[in-house]
Amino acid sequence: MWGKIHTTLIFLQDGILCEYFYFTGAFLLQLLYFYGVFFIQYSTDNVAGPGCSVNPSEVTLPGCSCLSCFCRADSCSCLQTFGQAYESIGRLLNIDRPESGYSTPVFECNALCTCSDTCSNRVVQRGLQHRLEVFHTKSKGWGVRTMEEISRGMFVCEYAGEVISFAEAKRRQFGKRTEENNYIIAIREHAGTSSITETFVDPAQVGNVGRFLNHSCTPNLYMLPVRVHSVIPRLALFAGRDIHAQEELTFDYSGGYSTQPAAEAPSTVGLQRKQCHCGAMNCTRFLPLDLSILS
Ligand SMILES: [Zn+2]
Ligand SMILES: [Zn+2]
Ligand SMILES: [Zn+2]
Ligand SMILES: [Zn+2]
Repeated sequence: MWGKIHTTLIFLQDGILCEYFYFTGAFLLQLLYFYGVFFIQYSTDNVAGPGCSVNPSEVTLPGCSCLSCFCRADSCSCLQTFGQAYESIGRLLNIDRPESGYSTPVFECNALCTCSDTCSNRVVQRGLQHRLEVFHTKSKGWGVRTMEEISRGMFVCEYAGEVISFAEAKRRQFGKRTEENNYIIAIREHAGTSSITETFVDPAQVGNVGRFLNHSCTPNLYMLPVRVHSVIPRLALFAGRDIHAQEELTFDYSGGYSTQPAAEAPSTVGLQRKQCHCGAMNCTRFLPLDLSILS
């Protein structure tokens, strides 16, 4: 007698959330509570969480002094120092790099640069350019799908949340119940042979559309740390291949992007691991686990 309950959240632009509910019956509130969707703070950008010494919204990188609309590699200090990451239409150059598990850091023009907002070295900072929809999947809870085609190498969305320290990530990971869905993403960047920069982003309490993305062992998005105004990277997700309208968007929670069969997960005796329902041929049956956080 309760009829059908259909919930759709559509993201037109990052942060502008249109909610459509078609329902008959009175289970709506319980439904929302059950999925916990409306009890988070929506933020398009990373925010400083416990143990984060640099505020991610502070401008901590130098800018260029280009006076033309578009920065050019022969005259722009940003492009000369950090290299050119995008084609003029915003597509990533060197999209094949992720297959090798190796990528150069990306730095965009920032608030201190004198170039225009349309400079081709500004991509992730412009936010969502494709209409995305949060929907309820059959076996994985919430998921995100695209409502339009996305071509390979284009920016899709960020995985934003609280930037926390390693100690806080560890504390939260241990306090987590297995039925909790959210994922602390740990990004490790190697500079040269010795120095490693680690960034931990937790979207459990503060997050954007990225928090609804599911893991897949054969994902169609891959994650790349991109720096805009701050030394703290944004976790940007790009299309790893051409993606059709209505396809679910997924990424590899361990940060990889590969069409090769995944390696057998290391032994995790005594740990409760969540099963993976991605349905890919190379599925490892469990969601990735960052053992360094747990050790
Ligand atoms: Zn520029
Ligand atoms: Zn410039
Ligand atoms: Zn610049
Ligand atoms: Zn899987």
